[in-house]
This record gives sequence, structure tokens and C-alpha cells, in this order.
Amino acid sequence: MSLHGDLEPIYANVLARNPGEPEFHQAVREVLESIGPAVDKHPDYADAKIIERICEPERQIIFRVPWQDDRGEIHINRGFRVEFNSALGPYKGGLRFHPSVLLGTVKFLGFEQVFKNALTGLPIGGAKGGSDFDPKGRSDREVMRFCQSFMTELARHIGEYTDVPAGDVGVGAREIGYLFGQYKRITNRYESGVLTGKGLIYGGAQVRREATGYGCTFFVEEMLRARGESFDGKDVVVSGSGNVAIYTVEKVYQLGGRVVACSDSTGYVRDEKGIDIELLKYVKEERRERISAYLEARSDADFVPGGSVWEVPCHVAMPSATQNELTEADAIRLVRNGCIAVGEGANMPTTPEGVRVLREAGVAFGPGKAANAGGVAASALEMQQNASRDSWSFEYSEERLRDIMRGIHARCFETAEEYGMPGDYVAGANIAGYARVAEAMLALGLV
Ligand code: GLU
Repeated sequence: MSLHGDLEPIYANVLARNPGEPEFHQAVREVLESIGPAVDKHPDYADAKIIERICEPERQIIFRVPWQDDRGEIHINRGFRVEFNSALGPYKGGLRFHPSVLLGTVKFLGFEQVFKNALTGLPIGGAKGGSDFDPKGRSDREVMRFCQSFMTELARHIGEYTDVPAGDVGVGAREIGYLFGQYKRITNRYESGVLTGKGLIYGGAQVRREATGYGCTFFVEEMLRARGESFDGKDVVVSGSGNVAIYTVEKVYQLGGRVVACSDSTGYVRDEKGIDIELLKYVKEERRERISAYLEARSDADFVPGGSVWEVPCHVAMPSATQNELTEADAIRLVRNGCIAVGEGANMPTTPEGVRVLREAGVAFGPGKAANAGGVAASALEMQQNASRDSWSFEYSEERLRDIMRGIHARCFETAEEYGMPGDYVAGANIAGYARVAEAMLALGLV
């Protein structure tokens, strides 16, 4: 897809200034491809160089993270925090611990986060952070020492009104606990609102753990509803089996669908009777095992090592593992097998070619920055509760989440209609997110 003429030089500049960061380029290009119509409508944004400013992070922090393993050996990892945009509120976004994390990965995720957070309608800017540390196979104490070292540097850059990290791949409640403990120790402040995704006992919020998966399922429910459909009787495939995937599976069942397959980096499990959610939780959350361990209790299910989970026919696909996991070939297969809706639980899990195939085939496609915004939205609710020293019930929190997801769906849907692209959630999400950030940046002057 070509770019609006005014955006070509801006994109060329992004490429030239950020060499070797293909995921960041991909994320920027995807947004620029959509916002052409908004560029024509708002010459004032161009005069203020809003797009150039949006593509340049406000601050990028890279730091050394030294730590000792259980045998006393010293390891050096690299830590990142990219504070991308704070026009709408304090920087907000998760931390990812995974060996593949590079600065370009964090920039792509931070860039996405700016638009995602804007779409929620809540007062949060965009950021992302993380490290190339691999928590897999590490003991609790090793993870704790790593988190303490990571926070020893990060603490000086974050704060309730400055930058509020949370979890992402490789960072769950355990890591957030260790990070919060160290922040508290360094600053001597019980500043609950500095991190979200905390445990319920020390300032965490109901539904934060479930929020990304639940939210994504609510978003897909809205897309189906807009087409006169529902989850009732639908077969669903969910990739991944981490936090997002698990709570997607749970909510799909509650809304009447059936999940027939899920996966991890080693392969996928197919269970025609429907994935057993309690067993999945036990294998992944309690035992922290590979997905193949699911078969120990369900011998009639199949495990396909190394296979693509998108081989399994389904009506609804919910990619919830990692970026660029659903390719053009996968998309073609999904369409051929009768898939009518895709909701991205992960960030940018579908390749640009894959997205093109799905959109051209008329599949309802909910891009991550809209469909998976439930996680960060619940984080913003956690910040509200921390600020007022309050805590809300599960039911009330879930209701708020559902309202927010419906609001995001409406914003995307209506914006796409307004710009003459009905049903195009990619355009709707990008234009609506962009317009909100741009308005705030314009109001705040050249900062
Ligand atoms: N990591 C999540 C995301 O990609 C949540 C971020 C947050 O809660 O701040 O949106």
C-alpha cells in the first residue's frame, strides 16, 4: 500500500534515523498507511509537524542490568525504557522480558502503545520497556535478583505522575511484586500507582490479570454483533497460552464459543472437545510447563510439535502470542477454512501481508491496538483505585472494562464510517488514536 505524498518523506526519515529496527519501521508504516485521509483534513497538524514528533520518542533509556545467578555467576543484561509520548497523560506501558528484546522491539511496542492508550479514552501516554533477560528456567530467587537490579536503575525514571510500567511477555504478578518491592525500598514511598498489574493484596486491582484476554473477547463480540453474529456455536483458535491467551479462552466459553486449539513456542494442542480451561491454567500458571503437558490429562487431544496453530479450522482466530506470528499463508488458510473474524490479543501478531489478505477477504479484523487495549485500560482503572485508595469489586471492574471495550469498538467503527471506509477497524483505530494524540499535542504547544 502506498503512502500519502506528504508522508513519504516522513517515513523515509524514520527509516534513515532508526536503522536496523524492522519491527519499528513496520509499526510506523502501518499507521502512516492509514492516516492519509486525516492528513488532508487537518493541515494544522502538518504545520505543527505532529507526525514527525509522534514518530520520535520523547526519551529513550538504555541501561546495564548486572545480576548474579544461584551459582554465583555474574550476568549482564540490557534494560530499556522508551518513553514515547506523554501528551495525554503519564507514560504508560508494559515491560517485556524475553531474549529477543532489542531497542527496536521496545520502540515498536512503545509506538503502538501511544495509539492504543489514546483509543481507550483514558488519560495515559505511551511507553514500553523491558530487557533481553530470559526468565525461563530461572529460579524465583534469580528472577528476584534480576528484578531488583533492573529497578535499581529504572526507579529514577518512573513515578505515579511520570511513567507507570506494567507487565508484558515474561513479566507477570511475580515480577511486578519484586519490582514494586525494590521501588518501595529505594524511594521509601508506598507509591502504589507507580506500577500496575500488582497483586491484589498490595494495591492491585480486580480484573487486571484477566483484562487483556477478556477485553479482546469483548471486542470480537462487538465486531461479530456489528455483523449480526455472536460467539454462540463458533469454533475459536487462540494462539499462545500465556496470560492473554488463558483469559481469552475463559471468556470465549462464557460468551458461548468453543476453543479448539491453543499453542506455545513448541507447538499446538488441538482438542475437539474444547480446550479444558482449568487444565490449561494448571499446566501454564501453576506448573509453568510446556503446552504438551496438557496431554498428560487429556490423552485424546493432539499435540502437533512445531506446527502452526492456524492450520486448525475455525470461525474466529485470536492471535495472542507474539508479533508477526500469523503470516500471509496462515491468513489464506484461515479464509479458506471459513474464518469470519480475527481479534489480535498480542501486539502486531499479524504480518502486513496477512492483514491485507484478511481485509480483502472481508474478515472482520480487530488490530491489536484496539482489540487488546483492555489490559492497559484495566491498568488505568488500577491507577484510579490507587489514587483514591479504593478497591472495586470484580463485577464492577469487569463492567467498566466491557464499557471501555465497547467504547473503543464504537470509536473505531464510527471513525472508519466517517472517513468512508466502513468496517475497516485498522483505519478506524489508527485515525481515531492519531487524532486524539494530535489534538492534545497541538494544545500543549511545541514541547
Ligand atoms: N503490556 C500490555 C499492553 O501491551 C499492558 C500495558 C499496561 O498495562 O500498561 O498493552
